[in-house]
Amino acid sequence: MKKVIPALVLGAMVGLQAHAAENKDFNYHVDRFADIEVLRYEVPGFKDLSLQQKKMLYYLSQAAQMGRDIIWDQNGRYNLKIRKTLENIYTNYKGDRNSKDFKAFEKYLKLVWFGNGIHHHYSNDKFTPEFSREFFEEQVRALPADMLPVCKGKDAQHLIDVLAPVIFDPTVMAKKVNQDGTQDIVATSAGNFYGPGVTQAEVEEYFAKMKDPNDPTPISYGLNSKLVKDKDGNLKELHYHLNGLYGPAIAKIIYWLDMAKNVAENDAQKAYITKLIDYYITGDLRLFDEYSILWAEDTKSDVDFVNGFIESYSDPLGMTGSWESYVNFKNKKSSERTEAISNNAQWFESNSPVDPKFRKENVKGVSAKAITAAMLGGDAFPSTAIGINLPNANWIRASHGSKSVTIENITEAYEMASHGNGFNEEFVIDAPTRKLLEDYLYITDMLHTDLHECLGHASGKLLPGVDPDALKENGSALEEARADLFALYYLADPKLQEIGVLDNPEAYKAEYYKFMLNGLMTQLNRIELGKDVEEAHMRNRQLIAKWILEHGKKDKVVQLVKKGGKTYVKINDYKKMRDLIGQLLGEIQRIKSEGDYAAGKKLIDTYAVKIDPKLHKEVLNRFSKLDIPPYRGFVNPVFRPAYDKNGEIIDVTLDYTESYTDQMLRLSRDYSTLGCSAH
Ligand code: ZN
Repeated sequence: MKKVIPALVLGAMVGLQAHAAENKDFNYHVDRFADIEVLRYEVPGFKDLSLQQKKMLYYLSQAAQMGRDIIWDQNGRYNLKIRKTLENIYTNYKGDRNSKDFKAFEKYLKLVWFGNGIHHHYSNDKFTPEFSREFFEEQVRALPADMLPVCKGKDAQHLIDVLAPVIFDPTVMAKKVNQDGTQDIVATSAGNFYGPGVTQAEVEEYFAKMKDPNDPTPISYGLNSKLVKDKDGNLKELHYHLNGLYGPAIAKIIYWLDMAKNVAENDAQKAYITKLIDYYITGDLRLFDEYSILWAEDTKSDVDFVNGFIESYSDPLGMTGSWESYVNFKNKKSSERTEAISNNAQWFESNSPVDPKFRKENVKGVSAKAITAAMLGGDAFPSTAIGINLPNANWIRASHGSKSVTIENITEAYEMASHGNGFNEEFVIDAPTRKLLEDYLYITDMLHTDLHECLGHASGKLLPGVDPDALKENGSALEEARADLFALYYLADPKLQEIGVLDNPEAYKAEYYKFMLNGLMTQLNRIELGKDVEEAHMRNRQLIAKWILEHGKKDKVVQLVKKGGKTYVKINDYKKMRDLIGQLLGEIQRIKSEGDYAAGKKLIDTYAVKIDPKLHKEVLNRFSKLDIPPYRGFVNPVFRPAYDKNGEIIDVTLDYTESYTDQMLRLSRDYSTLGCSAH
């Protein structure tokens, strides 16, 4: 559970020398629909890589796309059928493509592509189609038989009977992940990690029986399996591996990983790719841990990647990993910054404002680098993170360290695409604060990601015998809060000037201001009026911001003030704000270290969930005049290998011209790996 998802990116543009962009005319904007904007990112430095590295990135990019169908199926058992049906209607449609129904249909398809299924990637709510059920039925019936994604013997009517309620009935599969702790969160979540009829209590009991609290190196139970009931009602785990669930997709992934292995940069890299392949073949989670250790310890290679069942945000119980892939290479210049931080990891840990008994005596090998993404796949596409810290297993992190990355070219694309969008003028309180953000937000944002990933998640320890899952449904939000607080606390520390990563002791104020503005106000733009805050990162940000507002009330540390009828965040005392950040960090670390579920739940319930409806309405109104999309994601560059007459690759270039629709249709055409029997 270690990733940073970008907040709403401000329109600040900072010293261009900090940017790596190669082409100043690069067009970041690709498509815009509903609450989404699709961007593209540049891959600076790709053309200067060696042929061997380019080949490796190409093979890994193939492996990154071969798992696409897996995430679609994990997100919901009808998603693949729905995608194929919608795409076939889209390409086969003979009527007026400007008609109201078709336009609405196209918008829905674009949303479904973006969500890797019928639910919103962030709110987890099911998309509401704005075209009629009649239109849908008519179009399904108009499809030639060979374009119907049904198993043998089934017809169009069967497909309609299965899919129409799933698409049109708002009560069917309403939520991808339900986090409402008062309900059975397994039975009421639409994700496909558990079979029909499986209850939360049954899942908890099943895994509790397996877990040995005294095992110092536990596997990640349930990470690569679906728990179902057999025909006698007995629970059984279906594992994801070559001869198991998702086997056809995994076979293709293995093929391309094997190609990549043959052009690996060194033996250490070859060894972890081999281990990863063994794990994909067997599904053995011990092998996954061995792979994770080898991967975390390889800090020499420039080309790097993640490919597997990794983050568990989409499983209501936080166990099963969603399939994802990131393919990347090291950004050497910017890595000087992250290395300066990781080299001082022990200093940061030993001086943190938490009770010494919850600190790590020995921070093990936190390696940090800035990377350039070259391909995003699975759950990391089209919406993606700007930082990652893996592996996730606590014991591996403690004894072998972890790898933390800041994805610089993605952050840069967000920044560049935001330039001049009017956000700062609308929401930032005054000209001096706007200037502060313009001068320092880019670098402090990047440092915040570095500190969050490299130090924040890696900091602290559990007391002996404490279950890492003790905070249950609040675990993800509290973990993100812990990492954010650690980063915010140290952004204001003179140590950052001492190690040469920040030149101005006042710069941190830019990030503090943005954090409070986002947590108290602007992130509400992502939520429909009347709804609560649900997503873990958003809960984390509101928790921190509201807690500081409340606890700094007496001293007027931070205020919400009115100017010309509009609400603004006003920070009166940045130093005291830092003290409050330290206090909250101490408390959340205690909650995590002791596994204090009740205290964690109280913090979340008090600060993280509820929204003031008046302020919410105001924020939505102000945003509506700006036309800034609440969510953004990316298309990938297209890898174009050039071959000699013997079929050997002699060069690889990147093509940045593909549209969103063309890319999605191409992926479905060239990377469909799972058939009608997937679910
Ligand atoms: Zn995180």
